Amino acid sequence: MTVKERASCLVEDFLNAVPTRQPKREGEEMEFSQHKFRIMPTLICLAISLTAPGSLLASDDPDCLKVTLTGTGSPDPDGLRAKAGTLVRYGKQSNDCSEVVLQFDVGPGTLNRLERLDFDVTAVDAYFVTHSHHDHTAGLSSVIAEAWVNGLLSDVLGGTIPPQIEVPVVYVPEEPDEVVADIVIAAAEVFDEERQGRIDTIGFPPGPPFDTLADYNPDVRFLVPGSVTTVMNDGAPSAVTVSTYENGHMASVGDGVAAFSYRIETPAGTVVITGDAPPSQGLVDFAQAADIVVSEIALRPPELEGIPLFDTVFEIHLLPDDVAEIASSAGPEAILMLTHFAPSPPSTEFLGFSFAEITSCSYVDAVVDGGFDHRIIAGRDLYTVQLMAGASDLLCHGSRHCELLRLPGRAQRDRLCRKADRR
Ligand SMILES: [Zn+2]
Repeated sequence: MTVKERASCLVEDFLNAVPTRQPKREGEEMEFSQHKFRIMPTLICLAISLTAPGSLLASDDPDCLKVTLTGTGSPDPDGLRAKAGTLVRYGKQSNDCSEVVLQFDVGPGTLNRLERLDFDVTAVDAYFVTHSHHDHTAGLSSVIAEAWVNGLLSDVLGGTIPPQIEVPVVYVPEEPDEVVADIVIAAAEVFDEERQGRIDTIGFPPGPPFDTLADYNPDVRFLVPGSVTTVMNDGAPSAVTVSTYENGHMASVGDGVAAFSYRIETPAGTVVITGDAPPSQGLVDFAQAADIVVSEIALRPPELEGIPLFDTVFEIHLLPDDVAEIASSAGPEAILMLTHFAPSPPSTEFLGFSFAEITSCSYVDAVVDGGFDHRIIAGRDLYTVQLMAGASDLLCHGSRHCELLRLPGRAQRDRLCRKADRR
């Protein structure tokens, strides 16, 4: 079923999901029976398909896509937000949309957020890094180290000797000085000694392969601007491609220092992740017809006008009008997930300067004023959007509570942005 056919089924929202119980309070998310909400939309769309000549039958194991914000923070300190990261999963309903698992950026706190999803980091097929800044890369060490430990122990406890630990595949922008690649390699090397210590403690015999397991080198692969990469799955090409757009976020640092936006295309839908980026027509075009846009956002309060320090800060990031233009390029049915807030809401202070309070709703309202008056999600860590062929779009909070994402969703987005600021 195509995305358009999936959208046609949205009109049946009112029938789609059967809550297992009433909401705890009016306006709160409902907890759905996973079993029921998966079956009902399929039956409804099957009925529509049977009465619509030439349309496709809904699959009994539909394609699905999940996009999870593993971190919604920026360098602005916020104890409740991990730094930048987005988990993209594609697959079938029967494998929980997890045939292909990709992590975009790995800011500090990413490991904790993935584990809050009951998610084993060894399940990540590949990582993609947008650029070198610490809020996008400084979580690599912990994720890589944990993948090694979990992989080793599960192999050994499972009786696989020698262990078949997979090395992480990490895609990075190609740069003359290989800054991002060096960060990835250093993130692994820094724990070589720990790994050797664990091997010694467990008591593996000296000699191959045990004397080389501590030297755990990620498989670093370079991407150039404008490239399209087919993601491999168990050695075979998957149905997922990842495209790159050089967005110019790092242009002021030096020639060739790269920053990418990514576009992920799957049979269940398309996701665009802006990363940190200045506005450009190229980025607007890159987001065209995407189903989900994960966009960074920055908001300059009036009190910070006229302070030169902030000119640069706000020039290399997307402001609400820019975000609205990008999301509008995706289209009125697109779902906009806001992340990487600068300043981090709710806030009355940024880099030592004070202003009237900015909330998550301030960001959402500014995007609406900018011209995108549709589905906007003020991001919180672990918010997950799910698209499934033949089913309504869902927003899940963590791994259990889900609600339908309604069109145009004005009341819903206002409720969600107020909720996003609850501490
Ligand atoms: Zn950043």
